[in-house]
Amino acid sequence: MKMDSHSQSLKPERFVADHVRSLPRSGIRDFFGLVAKMPEAISLGIGEPDFITPWRIREAAIFALERGKTSYTDNLGLIQLRRAISQYVDNEFSLSYHPENEILTTVGVSEALDLALRAIVNPGDKILYHQPCYVSYQPSITLAHGKAIGVQASAANGFTIDTEALESAWEPGCKALILNFPTNPTGAVADLECLRNIAHFAISKDLLVVSDEIYAELTYEGDHASLAGLPGMRDRTIFLHGVSKAFAMTGFRIGYACAPAAIIEAMMKVHQYGIMCAPIVSQEAAIEALRHGRSSVVEMMAQYRRRRDYLARRFSEIGLPCVVPEGTFYAFPDIRPSGLDEVSFCHRLLEEEKVAMVPGTAFGPGGEGHVRASFSTSFENLIEAASRIDRFMDRLNDG
Ligand code: PMP
Repeated sequence: MKMDSHSQSLKPERFVADHVRSLPRSGIRDFFGLVAKMPEAISLGIGEPDFITPWRIREAAIFALERGKTSYTDNLGLIQLRRAISQYVDNEFSLSYHPENEILTTVGVSEALDLALRAIVNPGDKILYHQPCYVSYQPSITLAHGKAIGVQASAANGFTIDTEALESAWEPGCKALILNFPTNPTGAVADLECLRNIAHFAISKDLLVVSDEIYAELTYEGDHASLAGLPGMRDRTIFLHGVSKAFAMTGFRIGYACAPAAIIEAMMKVHQYGIMCAPIVSQEAAIEALRHGRSSVVEMMAQYRRRRDYLARRFSEIGLPCVVPEGTFYAFPDIRPSGLDEVSFCHRLLEEEKVAMVPGTAFGPGGEGHVRASFSTSFENLIEAASRIDRFMDRLNDG
């Protein structure tokens, strides 16, 4: 007791850096703290695959342990993994990166994003990022001492980015642009024309593009097109990808960055002093995933597609307009017909019908009037969730 009151009077929070203190806590975390206390709730809030990692990948991890793979690795990651990444991005996205010096293995795309920013941002540099977006972009820019400038994706354009939005956000001194197609939380996919416009803008403003393509394989119509593959883009793009989503490997924590050698070298220095290397067992599992895991991705995609078609149709039937997402496992329905704002909608739906979704504004301005519904849950759960949402809407309409 005595120690407690002593440490209280010391006000330990005064040691916390200003830019960290001013960061808001993620709204999603608090909301899901609530959900966790409701065992009967159906969560459409999950940001990770509901599938267990395919067995042959888990087996590769077990086998790595059996062979005594328990050491550090090269800072860049095992050369066998970097070769597998090089081969994979060539096969899947027609991108060519040298395993010796143009690929860095990281602890998830989360670390790769942090490294990319810390490697390029001088204090005060302006970084554009599109929104609504993955919750960590803006804080990561702030933590790297950059100034974050949002580029608004418009619902009318299917939540992709157009040149007008880029032009109106841009200011002199902007150094880089963070993009994420397919997009968390909207499920938007940029077609070739959209990518060409972005590339043209990036070149005209001399921007580096940090392209987070973590959902690339989860593209439903046609093949994923990578920004790094467009003419003039390779030398100004940091391509970020990983195994978390497509191979259902979130807990393995493996991501990677592909970029020109000078940028990888800079990112490697930050990684070397902060993390040293990604865990070797996970690296071994990622080798197996990239070399032999593609058929499992196809099987999981078939499930996601069935769920996506069902959920998007049900939202529209219920009276909540929903664009069919072209990528990811997220739908982003418009909840304005309910007459509620997105935060009240999510709270009331959770309280009254025990269905959890994430308010669109948790992903930044531009998410107003929308909620993120993840279909990374069983088909049965989706059927039950849709009937509960239907009942909720009926009650609102009657009231
Ligand atoms: N980028 C996006 C857009 C994401 O949605 C996520 C995870 N939700 C990540 C990066 C981080 O992924 P990881 O660190 O598991 O590779």
